[in-house]
Amino acid sequence: MSQDHNQTPSPGRRALIAGGAAAALGVLLAPGIRLIEVGQANAAEGVAARAPGTTASSAVRWGMLIDATRCSSECDACVSACNREVGLSGGTAPTDSQWVRKIDLKDLRTGKQASAPMMCQHCANPPCVDVCPTGASFKRADGIVLVDRHACIGCRYCMMACPYKARSFVHEPLAEQTPEVPRGKGCVEGCTLCVHRVDAGRLPACVEACPTGAIVFGDLNDPDSLISQRIRSIPTTQVRADLGLDTGIRYHGI
Ligand code: SF4
Ligand code: SF4
Repeated sequence: MSQDHNQTPSPGRRALIAGGAAAALGVLLAPGIRLIEVGQANAAEGVAARAPGTTASSAVRWGMLIDATRCSSECDACVSACNREVGLSGGTAPTDSQWVRKIDLKDLRTGKQASAPMMCQHCANPPCVDVCPTGASFKRADGIVLVDRHACIGCRYCMMACPYKARSFVHEPLAEQTPEVPRGKGCVEGCTLCVHRVDAGRLPACVEACPTGAIVFGDLNDPDSLISQRIRSIPTTQVRADLGLDTGIRYHGI
């Protein structure tokens, strides 16, 4: 996949970084991180179903391009869709699981403001996988980073290693769960890129829910995919590109 049009934050913007994903973009979180959702049906990108019993292929690298210029701070459609899809309460307390958050961003130099969803960035070089002592945190061949809840011992090393604060820990027993997204007390969890949908040839729930088409999902390895075409045609960036994690989630307009 071409990365020619990816852009790293300017030195001036980097100077604003105080730690954490949004700050690393050279922007400052507005007072109170907004936990909103975004979404939009994006039917333009075809997702072929994976045959049952077959393994993920490294020929594919799934990713998302999030266009912050289409994302409103008042919209939380993606967050709500994610919560519904994976059975989260929607609570925003430190002990609540949040797989995607809406964050409001402000460039201190220019005053430019933006809003965008932040979830697991599905890093090609994921530190969460590096630090996991049991192999529970792993990356599939197609780039989707997951947690095997049967191997997770709840040490939370991965949560500390993730620069995007993208993972949550399940503190309490769970009563009502989504059959396709099993979860469990004592395990770490985070955005799966809706792997259960993707393997069935469907788009992630947040992508479908976004009313403005701000989220494009597709194969970063395919030069003809919509996401690759968009990345070639508009400036995009990775959050904390300076860390060299090669994220599967790319942003435009932040
Ligand atoms: Fe791991 Fe965090 Fe990267 Fe997701 S964003 S792959 S949890 S380090
Ligand atoms: Fe949530 Fe699925 Fe979107 Fe990840 S891809 S943020 S799990 S809805």
